[in-house]
Amino acid sequence: MKSKFYLLNLGCPKNLVDSETMAAKLIKAGFSLTTSPAQADLILVNTCGFIDDAKAESIEAILQLSELKKKLVVTGCLAQIEGREIYRDIPEVSAVVGIGAEREIVRICQDLLQEDRRILRVSPLRSDYRGRFLRKPLTPFYTSYLKIADGCDNRCSYCLIPQIRGGLRSIPMGEVVERAKSLVQEGVKEIILVAQDLSSYGLDLYGRPMLAELLRELGRLEGAGWLRLLYLHPAHLNSELIEVIASMERICKYIDLPLQHISDRILKEMNRKMGGREIEDLLALLRASIPGVVLRTTFIVGFPGETEREFEELLEFVWRSKFGRLGCFPYSPQKGTPAARLPGQIPAEVKREREERLLALQVEVSRTVNQKRVGREEIALIEEEISPNTYSGRTQGEAPEIDGGVIIKGEGLKPGDMVRIKITGSSDFDLIAQVINDRSLIGLEPSMGG
Ligand code: SF4
Repeated sequence: MKSKFYLLNLGCPKNLVDSETMAAKLIKAGFSLTTSPAQADLILVNTCGFIDDAKAESIEAILQLSELKKKLVVTGCLAQIEGREIYRDIPEVSAVVGIGAEREIVRICQDLLQEDRRILRVSPLRSDYRGRFLRKPLTPFYTSYLKIADGCDNRCSYCLIPQIRGGLRSIPMGEVVERAKSLVQEGVKEIILVAQDLSSYGLDLYGRPMLAELLRELGRLEGAGWLRLLYLHPAHLNSELIEVIASMERICKYIDLPLQHISDRILKEMNRKMGGREIEDLLALLRASIPGVVLRTTFIVGFPGETEREFEELLEFVWRSKFGRLGCFPYSPQKGTPAARLPGQIPAEVKREREERLLALQVEVSRTVNQKRVGREEIALIEEEISPNTYSGRTQGEAPEIDGGVIIKGEGLKPGDMVRIKITGSSDFDLIAQVINDRSLIGLEPSMGG
């Protein structure tokens, strides 16, 4: 009888890729995946440890699932940084497996089911993503995240990730292209490239940024659909990369560019390697080079010492820059980061109030940006039928899960279809559209539009 496992993934798409890898390894070893924790012999929680809210969510999930009295395995970022504490404080947890030890997940799970003992495996060793590409899809068939590197060398002063995931480790280009090929063969229409800092891809392996080169390679893949890029660092977005994004039709005209702030003083304290003037110039260059580009960004409000004046400077910048998509985090001091030791820590209620003001402004901005897209013809990826002849979908301007969507009127469509639409209406975060050519556009021609 096959042992069943249930897997709960928390956090970002990079964590989801790790969950897909662990699930595939367990299935290959004879386990079967169940969607019901109550049915499982073994439960895995792939945690996030980025900021306090994420840590709290992970602990809450572990405590809830521990009530089922099953073998409980905690993996992921929180396991890597607070694994010993979890092992000590939550006796219901059977095993804590840090990122460096996820390679051993099969043996650890087999041992847990054979012996009544607890396992703690948190090693400084950073796992290496090279080697055989194994994946149990945890996303809809038509879309997939492809991790091209892990770790980060940027050392932003507020960020724990370099301590959790180590320095930048890129996957060799040949291997990335092979992985993308197998995703296309699986019928994936949208490949979403992810890393901590996508724009630094290859620096460690090839001594220079290689994302532009990689995109040219991926652009030659037969039958591939969209290539979407998430997590570009503004300081590493060079003109070569912008030119490639602009010239290849299949690369989504969607730039995810976490900026974090606009005040020179705060950007310096954050160690973001770029000032406000350079950021404004970069945005102007992006808009001039990629007509109709949708810009996504994230900001941190309430960074230590942030004055009301500096926050208003950020509000003015957001109003002026008209980002299509925007996320916002109240600063969360993380033990072991330089920023946590800075004077002038801002009270929680002030951080929350600034988060609310920024998000309220973005509602107006998003409404304006969406209104400007009415009348445009675009390609949409159909996700599901939500009512007769009405579908949810996304254009190149919407990433899954984090952005609004498109409500599409059409007939006889199915998930994964790519169709030409006309945008007929908009709301604060969503668009409304009508199919104008429902012939499914299977596979954009390789490097068309170059
Ligand atoms: S670039 Fe991103 S992952 Fe890297 S240190 Fe900065 S915030 Fe963290």
